[in-house]
Parts: sequence; C-alpha cells; structure tokens
Amino acid sequence: MASRRDDFLSNADDSVVECRAFSHNWEDAGDFMNGRSVHIVLYCERCDSYAVVEWSKSAGTIEGRKYKYSPGYLNNTGQPVTKADARVERIRRTKFQGTKEFEKLLDQIDEERESYR
Ligand SMILES: [Zn+2]
Repeated sequence: MASRRDDFLSNADDSVVECRAFSHNWEDAGDFMNGRSVHIVLYCERCDSYAVVEWSKSAGTIEGRKYKYSPGYLNNTGQPVTKADARVERIRRTKFQGTKEFEKLLDQIDEERESYR
C-alpha cells in the first residue's frame, strides 16, 4: 500500500520531482539595492518558482531568503519528503541508457571541457 509520501511524489509534476531531486535551476530575474543590502530575485523556469534572497552588500553573507513556489510544489500531506525520496521517484520515471552511451558522453565531455583532476 502506498504511503501518503509516495502519493505526493507519484502525483507531482515531473518539474516538481526534478527540482526536488536536482535542486532548482535558478536564474537571475532582478537585482535591487536597498541600503546595506541587496535583494536578488531568482526564478526557476523548470518549476515556475521564485526565491527572493537578501545579501549583505559589504560582507556577501545571506541575510534572508523567501520562496514563492508554484502550485503543486509544496508537500501538504504532513509526511516529510526527502531529496532521496525525490531521487527515487525521478529514477522510477526515467528511461535509462546503457554503459556504452554513458562512456560515449563522458568521452565527448572530456574532449570539449577542461578538467581540474
Ligand atoms: Zn525549480
């Protein structure tokens, strides 16, 4: 029998599962100066959510942050859902390629990108 946690993730949109598994894909949507602080508005196109982050102008420390999530993002079941739970759901929904394709992609990346190793 499925738990309520399973119900939340199994009913969630792919975008919600991916942002919960990978973290948000934040892009800068606006930068605002406010005395000793700056406010950065971030937008995640994948799940249609916003973050408003406040940084100290001189120290660069995070002074605050608020999130505005798209409908369906928040889990209101009362059962906690971890990132690992989201990864398991992402795995369940994914059609995986094999080792050969993986090695080919890694070779391609190695040819095109610098490495620090
Ligand atoms: Zn997101």
